[in-house]
Amino acid sequence: MNEINVVTFDIGGTNMRAAVVLVKGTSWKLLDQLRRPTPNYLLEPGTSAMKRLDDLLDFIADYANFANMRFGAEVITAAFPGPVQGAGNVLALPTMWGPDSQALCPIDFAGLIKERVPKMTVNVMNDVSAAGYRFVPECPDFAIFTLGSGLGLKVFLDGKPCVGAHGRGGELTHMVFDTRQDAPLCDCGGRGHLGSLVSGRAWQRMVNAAQLNGQSPDLLGFVEPLARAIAMLHFSLGLERFILAGGLVEGLGEPLRKAIVRRLPEQGWDVQQDWNAMVEIAEADDMHALIGGAFACSLNK
Ligand SMILES: [Zn+2]
Repeated sequence: MNEINVVTFDIGGTNMRAAVVLVKGTSWKLLDQLRRPTPNYLLEPGTSAMKRLDDLLDFIADYANFANMRFGAEVITAAFPGPVQGAGNVLALPTMWGPDSQALCPIDFAGLIKERVPKMTVNVMNDVSAAGYRFVPECPDFAIFTLGSGLGLKVFLDGKPCVGAHGRGGELTHMVFDTRQDAPLCDCGGRGHLGSLVSGRAWQRMVNAAQLNGQSPDLLGFVEPLARAIAMLHFSLGLERFILAGGLVEGLGEPLRKAIVRRLPEQGWDVQQDWNAMVEIAEADDMHALIGGAFACSLNK
């Protein structure tokens, strides 16, 4: 069975993580890992966006060179929290670059990394796509929702993320689910988007409001838009596997899953769906994008 050593990066708005992962068939082994704070716009407001980009590329190149020399890794996967077009053009990175984001984007990360590490093969992908690849060896068709401070989503069909010709697919999280004028604001600047209603930040708002009134937060109300999105994907694409991952899922656990399952039957046609069997919680090891990024290389080789 083919073995492949992959240097894998999960670049988030708060932390940049790197790992060397040995993939053999459907199994994997972690050989090394490293975590650093992301040079983001909140942490380093006085630094120019170009300098932050340079620091990020240095981090990737230094660790990739180390992994190449120490472990013989020849492939890099870098996952970013934004839509990715074609071979590695990142279209937007608001969680990292903040208001400067659009001035720098699109960024050809694949090209920039390759310039610094010419001897290695470079793959660049969206972070939720990378996370999803972890589950492809078990099942080729599913949707993965990552619920952290924000909300991410990718749909996988035939083992590949469906992002469309221009890399914008799977962004149902930026579709309007609350049409009220004063609906909550999304990271992207829009109002009432799914991601502004169901996210770690939205849950915190609900917890705070409930505390002020001496009540407990309304979990069933909170999950209703997410149940609607799951039902949309089930009815439109026939998906029967919905994976929930991320910090908020780890925090709320089984009651969150049960609340979603309770809100699903009311979303549409009852054709004896076993909603309870369709919704699952991913392992709480916070390694999905790193491991999935390594699987992406071995699966797409
Ligand atoms: Zn949005």
